[in-house]
Amino acid sequence: MFDWIAFDADDTLWKNEETYLQGREQFLQILAAYGLGESDLEQVDVFEVENLQYYGYGVMSFVLSMIEMAIHLTGESFHPKDIQKLLDLAKEMLSAEVEVFEGVPLLLERLSENYPLMLITKGDLFHQQRKLRSSGLTDFFGTVEVVSDKSPDVYRQIMDRYRIDPDRFLMIGNSLRSDIIPVLKLGGWTIFLSGHLSWSHEENPLDQIPQDRFLEVKNINQVLSSLDRLGKQRG
Ligand SMILES: [Mg+2]
Repeated sequence: MFDWIAFDADDTLWKNEETYLQGREQFLQILAAYGLGESDLEQVDVFEVENLQYYGYGVMSFVLSMIEMAIHLTGESFHPKDIQKLLDLAKEMLSAEVEVFEGVPLLLERLSENYPLMLITKGDLFHQQRKLRSSGLTDFFGTVEVVSDKSPDVYRQIMDRYRIDPDRFLMIGNSLRSDIIPVLKLGGWTIFLSGHLSWSHEENPLDQIPQDRFLEVKNINQVLSSLDRLGKQRG
């Protein structure tokens, strides 16, 4: 049915966004000492999205954006000991053990019997490689692509490199913006995990998605049964 099945990694195979939400909580505690609160925190996203062009996706971008925002919000009176706390938080986030979603190893084992599996993940190369090693899932993937962004161009380059026909390619992920829309644009097939957490920057209105090569399921454990449905859709 497909020549390749590709997976996103963060919040598709293992927990990720939760770590950022916890990081935000710690940041909030630090900001409280300066009389700043929850509503000020919303600006982290603004700073981070603005900073993507410099730092790309990942923990470093998140933490540098928090520091920049804190300096800005405190009128440059953010204390070096608090900067140190945020740098410690970055190291903690970067070295945290990966928590793989229940059912993932079994799913990958089953699928890898019939399909070559590819991992396509974006972010910091060093951190992504570390998370993959820590997940224990490396051996299921014949191909691992760590990219700085997930644009249609990036997917096209990957497909060209491995001589993949988009019509024979399935991408599974939790982000409409990064995993689903660009692949649909190229004529590929997609399964969207709508019950998995994702960063608000990655959200996109569902009604703008063409439905003919798209399937929405709640979580990763519904992927295997949904493959049959997708096959029927494919005709
Ligand atoms: Mg993801």
